[in-house]
Amino acid sequence: MPQSKMNTLAEWLKTSRCVMALTGAGISAESGIPTFRGVQGLWEKYDIMEFAHIDSFRADPVKVWRMLLELDQTILKARPNAAHKALAELETLGILGLVVTQNVDNLHQDAGSRHVVEFHGNAKRFRCLDCGTPYERAQVNFSEPPPRCFCTGLIKPDVVFFGEAIPWAAHARAFDMARQADLVLVVGTSAVVAPASDLPILAKHNGARVVEINPEATVLTEDVTDLILQGPASQMLPPVLDLIRRRA
Ligand SMILES: [Zn+2]
Repeated sequence: MPQSKMNTLAEWLKTSRCVMALTGAGISAESGIPTFRGVQGLWEKYDIMEFAHIDSFRADPVKVWRMLLELDQTILKARPNAAHKALAELETLGILGLVVTQNVDNLHQDAGSRHVVEFHGNAKRFRCLDCGTPYERAQVNFSEPPPRCFCTGLIKPDVVFFGEAIPWAAHARAFDMARQADLVLVVGTSAVVAPASDLPILAKHNGARVVEINPEATVLTEDVTDLILQGPASQMLPPVLDLIRRRA
């Protein structure tokens, strides 16, 4: 990786007034969480449209909970990696204002990020599908799936299934920030799924710089991206953070 690109990003991070990051499956893949589109693990066994659609969950919760329990174990074992930690540190330094994530694994919060918008919810929280009562993990009885609420409704992880809307507050906060941002980091996401994919484009229209940190070029790279650090985020972000610290 050319050092000059890292220097440029370090400089932009230091001089920007409002910075947001959009993160996706790529950043968590480095912590061992399978991506929907990846070939390994969970999604090889389970057809995602069959298992992660709200209609499937309602129709056959026992079947879908088999997959959810496996996902639960994968997420429980995962730990934040150097990229999550670098983003948390950028927040602590007062540089990064908000992380908008498409991930449901809580790894940004585990790394220390406090300003996180979750587009697709959080698999470490649970909620009754009928009455909306929230449950902590420890309160959920996993022994005979599907777990049920006191109201007899189905309990599901507080994640956005296919066929469900993105939480309104998360959507509003992310788009507000995208309008104000002067620098957007696109980290570990191919940014093809709306509405997350609209955020860098909206920010760009409002004059923001867009920096991609991705192993491969994406649909943004050609027309939207100002700078791409091509590689895994856990290898790209820590050296940039070091450059910022050294120059502080
Ligand atoms: Zn209930």
